[in-house]
Amino acid sequence: EESQRLQKVIAQAGLSSRRGAELMISSGRVQVNGETVTELGTKVTSHDQVQVDGAPIEGREKLVYYLLNKPRGVVTTNDDEKGRRTVLDILEDVDQRVYPVGRLDYDTTGALLLTNDGTIANQLMHPKSKVNKTYVAKVEGIATEKALLPLKSGVVLSGRKTSPARVSIERVEPTKKTSMIRLTIHEGRNHQVKNMLAKVGFPVQKLRREQYAFFDLTGLQPGEYRKLTSVEIKRLK
Ligand code: URA
Repeated sequence: EESQRLQKVIAQAGLSSRRGAELMISSGRVQVNGETVTELGTKVTSHDQVQVDGAPIEGREKLVYYLLNKPRGVVTTNDDEKGRRTVLDILEDVDQRVYPVGRLDYDTTGALLLTNDGTIANQLMHPKSKVNKTYVAKVEGIATEKALLPLKSGVVLSGRKTSPARVSIERVEPTKKTSMIRLTIHEGRNHQVKNMLAKVGFPVQKLRREQYAFFDLTGLQPGEYRKLTSVEIKRLK
């Protein structure tokens, strides 16, 4: 397989001059197979995935941004090994190859961003960004302030304490012995909300993400999605 210098490949893709490509590389804007490369002499072949600012250079696409109200019963991964429906199957009229910003469980509904803008996606998913996510959970049991108190300081999950959560009881159904709890966290560990609530004795029956950063579900039924406005996109950056 023929290899070529990285700056040449970027220039050929029409992104910039050779010199411009060198600057992109040395300033850390270029990734090869997901790793940032700053070495100018780096050689790549057609099998290597070259990205600038997180976006693939080949057939470089327009950057697009969507907000989906994820319905129950779809996976957030691009390619499910069990062949289940994915969130990408829902965005059927989107030409670009977008991917979800973070994950929601198969049975969780709610706010999910999808984009082909790798820079923004990585930024939002980085723990340092501390993007707030608000969930509403229907749980088994009658919630009390006292029982939920540990969540406000943090509980230990898999040997590591969670960051303090904002927690409120929205409703209690004494006859059904269920409660609705609203919870805001900024971490995104696997099944975090379910595990946090289970830890304090309230197994989750239903979970909905009501808010992600400044996005809520206004106007979106489960399964519906919309483009972000240019104002919203600017606000994300
Ligand atoms: N926490 C969970 O337990 N599940 C989700 O889908 C999201 C957050």
